[in-house]
Amino acid sequence: MRKWSGGCLCGTVRYELSSDPFDAGWCHCRTCQLFGGAPAMAFASVPTEDFRWTAGKDKVGRFRSSSFGHREFCGECGSPLRIQVDHQPETVDFPIATLDQPDDVPPGFHIFWGSKVAWFDPGDDLPRHDKFRPDTRGLEGTEPPE
Ligand SMILES: [Zn+2]
Ligand SMILES: [Zn+2]
Repeated sequence: MRKWSGGCLCGTVRYELSSDPFDAGWCHCRTCQLFGGAPAMAFASVPTEDFRWTAGKDKVGRFRSSSFGHREFCGECGSPLRIQVDHQPETVDFPIATLDQPDDVPPGFHIFWGSKVAWFDPGDDLPRHDKFRPDTRGLEGTEPPE
């Protein structure tokens, strides 16, 4: 089992993963654009129990970012660190770019392509979904919950 680690820009908050990230993909929703200050965010998932804060846990800020999820960030530097979605309580999502080994987790799809920033061209041929993927865990369809 390889060891995965990551953290925020200022180094206050650090985390480790005890299993390999899966479901890596790009999200182009407005919430990710505003949370990341970027045209899109690339996320991957691990089982909730496999994500462990190793430093700065008390500095992790948390807020309700939508009707169906929370987001967490470093309270010192603002780096986005984690997303928890109500309909997927068994996993957490984290921005791939916060890993110490981001090159090793390439995204495999795009979601919320319907709200992609017009000038942003990822230049790949990965599957593109207007909203959620049709097979999203815990969701009936592709629409975000109300
Ligand atoms: Zn920080
Ligand atoms: Zn998003």
